[in-house]
Amino acid sequence: MARIKADKYTEFVSAGFGKDLAKRLGLPQPAILRRFDPAAPLLTGPVLVVGKGSGADALAQALLDWQLDVRRTATPKQKLGGIILVLDEISDPTELSEPVRTVGASLRDLAANARVLTISRPSSAAQDPALAAARHGVDGFLRSLAKELRAGGTANGILLEDGVPTTAPSALGALRFFLSGRSAFVDGQFVTVSSEKGELPADWARPLAGKVAVVTGAARGIGAAIARTLARDGAEVIVVDVPAAGDHLAAVANQVRGTAVQLDITRDDAAERLLAHAAERYGRLDIVVHNAGITRDRLLANMDPGRWESVMAVNIASQLRMNRALLASDLFQNRPHIVSVASTSGIAGNRGQTNYAASKAGVIGMVRATAPLLDGVDGTINAVAPGFIVTEMTAKIPFATREVARRLNSLLQGGLPEDVAETIAFFASESAGGISGNVLRVCGQNMVGQ
Ligand code: NAD
Repeated sequence: MARIKADKYTEFVSAGFGKDLAKRLGLPQPAILRRFDPAAPLLTGPVLVVGKGSGADALAQALLDWQLDVRRTATPKQKLGGIILVLDEISDPTELSEPVRTVGASLRDLAANARVLTISRPSSAAQDPALAAARHGVDGFLRSLAKELRAGGTANGILLEDGVPTTAPSALGALRFFLSGRSAFVDGQFVTVSSEKGELPADWARPLAGKVAVVTGAARGIGAAIARTLARDGAEVIVVDVPAAGDHLAAVANQVRGTAVQLDITRDDAAERLLAHAAERYGRLDIVVHNAGITRDRLLANMDPGRWESVMAVNIASQLRMNRALLASDLFQNRPHIVSVASTSGIAGNRGQTNYAASKAGVIGMVRATAPLLDGVDGTINAVAPGFIVTEMTAKIPFATREVARRLNSLLQGGLPEDVAETIAFFASESAGGISGNVLRVCGQNMVGQ
């Protein structure tokens, strides 16, 4: 089966008659995004590293190991695959002016699907006001720049906690994720690297080699894509779904050469059954992806208890129960990684989804509070918040609402299940070992919420 590269409208306006028509009528012209291909180069042109200081120098040096064409000054009119703006040492907003103008001068030379990245440090209320202003200024700058890029280009930021160098494993891991096609639908977002933990893989094509992963809700949609992506990256995968989805689940398990467990994750003994399966078949468990989720939309005035309870039970209560069991299990103590699927509805809210948004915001709260509990075993937990992703879940949205909803982002299109899966695979890898408690939106910089 040919791989879907974009939704039908995007394909239509990308070439020939459709392209001319869209141009003439002034219709949105989303680009076909550069998605990950292990055989393709990391970036489609030279990368310009902007910024003074030892952090910028060390980073430029480290990038040479990836066979990138690294430049410290731009050659006008020469196409660039990306720009990395290193701002780790700024302490006053006035210091932004010069490096930002340098980036501006090169924006017209960006190739299609280029990447712009900032590397800076987080602001906090405990800092000197000028320092906090400089650091937080990067936030507004980056989010606005992401909205100005064209042709599938994206802009994202990496925040390094104080003391974490620009070449820390997870700083480089995040940088590589953002430069690559893995991050195609991540735009206008920040990831925080909180420690020097983590390790870069020996083989970038198989960063999950030797790992065993559980994926819930894997019979279709985003879950099936997660299973395929983790397997492609080298993991052995246990796929989980309700018994009613057994046939589809078996097909996914076959595809990824994994094992299937038919299980309703709301059962009290769900975690015990998964741990027993992992122990018996593989003797280990390294990664758990909480993906299974349901919607039961109604305005609150019409919400019956069944709709509220079932959404809370599947989307958050099951995750809490399973995490408690995982944290207590001997099988899950060796640098374990948990990734939960939240939603932009849980950040911005959505009419008709008080139940769903409460459960997904609950996931975000749970992830932040669980991160410190995994520190002692060098484990991580992060959440991914998808925006509009083309799946059977979003196929249920009425046509007109769906067509508008999928274009309300900087990339003018819906994401694919693979886009969510790639971000999850990154969080599940050792190269993200210094990243925990994060919520990363995979939404093409959706207009709603931050
Ligand atoms: P989907 O409905 O296509 O797939 C969800 C899968 O979870 C199904 O196979 C279903 O059988 C399974 N599942 C449901 N309840 C279960 C249970 N109790 N036990 C085991 N498995 C169960 O949905 P999707 O679009 O692939 O969504 C996957 C995740 O992404 C969900 O958590 C969803 O909330 C989230 N999400 C999706 C979108 C989107 O645009 N599609 C946006 C934001 C968040």
